[in-house]
Amino acid sequence: MQFILASNNKKKLKEMGDILALEGCTVISMNEAGVTSDPEENGLTFEENALIKARSAMMASGRPCIADDSGLAVDALGGAPGVFSARYCEGTDLDRTMFLLKNMEGVEDRRARFVSAVACAFPDGSSIVVRGECEGEILRELKGEGGFGYDPVFYVPSEGCTFAEMPAERKNEISHRARAMVRFCEELRNKRNEE
Ligand code: IMP
Repeated sequence: MQFILASNNKKKLKEMGDILALEGCTVISMNEAGVTSDPEENGLTFEENALIKARSAMMASGRPCIADDSGLAVDALGGAPGVFSARYCEGTDLDRTMFLLKNMEGVEDRRARFVSAVACAFPDGSSIVVRGECEGEILRELKGEGGFGYDPVFYVPSEGCTFAEMPAERKNEISHRARAMVRFCEELRNKRNEE
């Protein structure tokens, strides 16, 4: 089966493509498929937003489309920045990370998790929606040069380092997106067995 990824992000295409290849599936970008779709991501949850993107691309292409939506949820901030992670404040990834640290000044409870929802919309109207999470803690300062987004302040106790200090291969094994993709593959297998 071939999926269109409702994104033109090359890193996501490679990461998801590598995992889906193990299921005998291929993934192409919207550019490669000649599809344009840019729906408003106005869902209240990661799952809703992933499904909005997957459905919109499926309607535009008539083919199975997969999409993900991800972000950081901090316990002491009631789950913020959550679905607003990419738009938490104006500016760069670093500006948003510093804004997060400012909002957590004096906060003792540092627990947080990265969340990824992966959705697939099929032309017959059916869909698969799954979630993966990676637990961690928000540091009080930046550590590490790798990764992107909030990675320098996201410390993973079980690994003893931040996402930004972790080799990319290791992050790709334990990340919220990797975990969501493992679940997605399970659900895909179940769906195929039922058909
Ligand atoms: P999107 O799902 O690509 O729209 O990502 C949403 C936002 O969540 C990103 O802009 C980042 O701020 C944040 N985010 C999602 N995944 C990660 C990650 O693995 N590391 C750091 N930040 C992330």
